Amino acid sequence: MAEGRIIKALSGFYYVQSDDGIYQCRGRGLFRNNKVTPLVGDFVDFDIRNDMEGYLINIKPRINELVRPPIANVDRAFIISSAVEPSFSTLLLDRFLVLIESKDIEPVIIISKIDVLPEEEKISIDNFARAYQEIGYKVEQVSSKEPFDIQGIEAYFNDGVSVIAGQSGVGKSSLLNALKPELQIKTDDISKSLGRGKHTTRHVELVQLFGGLVADTPGFSALEFNEIALEEIGDYFPEIRERKGDCKFRGCMHNKEPKCAVKEAVKQGEISQFRYDHYLTFYEEIQSRKPRY
Ligand code: ZN
Repeated sequence: MAEGRIIKALSGFYYVQSDDGIYQCRGRGLFRNNKVTPLVGDFVDFDIRNDMEGYLINIKPRINELVRPPIANVDRAFIISSAVEPSFSTLLLDRFLVLIESKDIEPVIIISKIDVLPEEEKISIDNFARAYQEIGYKVEQVSSKEPFDIQGIEAYFNDGVSVIAGQSGVGKSSLLNALKPELQIKTDDISKSLGRGKHTTRHVELVQLFGGLVADTPGFSALEFNEIALEEIGDYFPEIRERKGDCKFRGCMHNKEPKCAVKEAVKQGEISQFRYDHYLTFYEEIQSRKPRY
């Protein structure tokens, strides 16, 4: 028996990267019976049948799992947020951050197109970048000019599995193109044509890049909080999470409760007002969610 990681699934075959190469493997009835579908990103045990062919035997427990695209064990997500066109949106960025935090994935914030940002807006972008860095997030500002400025970004890809996230038009294609030209195909073009039902046939492949693996299809294309419970939302804001023990009431939602350490930190300027506002926005969004049956 050998071990490896599924890097591609196509036409009933799973392509498993192992120490000595890529094996073309078939699944077995065992997965269908257990209702577990092998996913790209899965660590697996497999039996070698012929030269570079085999059968999947076992799927190892997953750290996390994305639905669109279907991929398991993601370590890092790059959120590309453009400084302009579309204009920088902390609300959208925070939405991505909450979803990424909820999957226990490390986010890296990339602010793109800073070269086309009017001079007078640069200070505001720098201030936002600093606010996110103070929370503990990694933030990089990059230009969109060709060749795309990827200095300082390459090192993030040196291990594990990374996915690229961000709304359409922020420069996902340009970034991937600069990192690895053959990757660009599936990025912004697909996001633009994303109609309901169209993404069912999408498949994802993990590609070697600077020592790690990167998904060739953007992640987090659905931005709803369907899987997040009301009580959890504060845990996905690190600056709220780390203060919740100081609130007077256990289970404090940092909203209307008295003696709330989070509200006090906002008042003292230790938590950014915009982040707290977004927390309340998301809180209300989840609260007003219609029950699903
Ligand atoms: Zn509180």
